[in-house]
Amino acid sequence: MNNNTNTSLLVACQQCDALYDKPQLKQGQLAKCNRCGSTLIERKVDSIERSFNWSLAGLLLMLPAILLPIMGVTLAGQFHQASLFDCILVLIDRGFFMIACLVFLFAIAVPIVRLTGALYISYSFKFNKLKPSLLNFFRAYHHLDNWAMLNVFMLGIVVSMYKLIDDTELSVNLGLLAFILWLICSTMSAVALDQDYIWDKLEKAFTKDEVQDEVQDENS
Ligand SMILES: [Zn+2]
Repeated sequence: MNNNTNTSLLVACQQCDALYDKPQLKQGQLAKCNRCGSTLIERKVDSIERSFNWSLAGLLLMLPAILLPIMGVTLAGQFHQASLFDCILVLIDRGFFMIACLVFLFAIAVPIVRLTGALYISYSFKFNKLKPSLLNFFRAYHHLDNWAMLNVFMLGIVVSMYKLIDDTELSVNLGLLAFILWLICSTMSAVALDQDYIWDKLEKAFTKDEVQDEVQDENS
């Protein structure tokens, strides 16, 4: 029995588990499952380039999104403009530590890590600086995808908490605009990244070395 089947040459349908030989696709092409018709693999066009640009734009928008006012708050009869960062400070001030931590984590920290991750991965591919550590890095990045939309949810929580405790108006300020653009960049950088292509490249780059090592061992 041959136990050395190379699983990187196979692809499984995510809907019905049918197994296929991995097709070689060109940019813009996609392969569909013969049994259920769902998409097996899609080769995205200019994936690295687009992901690099979106994540760079996202990181540039990060500071305005966090520091510019996103809403107007009336505190003790006085009207203040509050940024996302101010909101977190006010939450801490009022004893909502847990919510302040969650808002910081999911509205600020996770998007920053995701954008930085997407930028690092696309940078490494764009300038051909692939390292074996990228395999682990990309695996970790992949896990963060599950938390992607929580930042929208968290912004919703902040706004509704202010609605409950104060007279709050959500005015369309530059900060809110920057935050929305930031979310769009963060989502687009993840959507543009062709995960399948990246796995393929990384596996080829770093399992080839091992195969060559084995061949050299056998020859010596
Ligand atoms: Zn299928």
